[in-house]
Amino acid sequence: MNTQKRLEILTRLRDANPHPTTELNFSTPFELLIAVLLSAQATDVGVNKATDKLYPIANTPQAILDLGLEGLKSYIKTIGLFNTKAVNTMKTCQMLVDLHNGEVPESREALEALPGVGRKTANVVLNTAFGWPTIAVDTHIFRVSNRTKFAMGKNVDLVEQKLLKVVPAEFKVDVHHWLILHGRYTCVARKPRCGSCIIEDLCEFKDKTSDD
Ligand code: SF4
Repeated sequence: MNTQKRLEILTRLRDANPHPTTELNFSTPFELLIAVLLSAQATDVGVNKATDKLYPIANTPQAILDLGLEGLKSYIKTIGLFNTKAVNTMKTCQMLVDLHNGEVPESREALEALPGVGRKTANVVLNTAFGWPTIAVDTHIFRVSNRTKFAMGKNVDLVEQKLLKVVPAEFKVDVHHWLILHGRYTCVARKPRCGSCIIEDLCEFKDKTSDD
């Protein structure tokens, strides 16, 4: 895909949604970090249902530690993989208290050192809580980037590198949200809704669907 087309795609996505953000509910970097940690292989809606009850009771590392492991599990047991996530959340809270004064560190290295936090989670937190131009490539972004030929790559790391290279600076902070939302609602996995897609004429996918 050429530069001009990419620019047009980004401009259209921005025009349609000038201030995109995550669909996870949060009001502090810590709330976002825990929500992202809980969201692996779960829906944002499912995570929000749990955290909407948890955060009014406990939304700091110390408060979650005070709940105890079983107490935390009682709030998140509707989320997939909740046992592992509960253990990682407790360990992460302990490290935040011990090493970072109870705050979420604005550092990739420090974030990735937290249990259950990988590159994608660190990218989301750096981007969405701190405004860094990082791009967290999830299953939606991976699919949309390859299908459209906007930024092709065999794995998520290669797509991330390609996106960082081809997306102009003015779009970098928001591109991760635009592509996720596009993949979640329009360029869906099984049968993309090409008939109602605002970038249909620019997309280079060979097997576009004729209806929406
Ligand atoms: S035209 Fe179809 S395949 Fe291309 S981005 Fe839109 S929904 Fe996805």
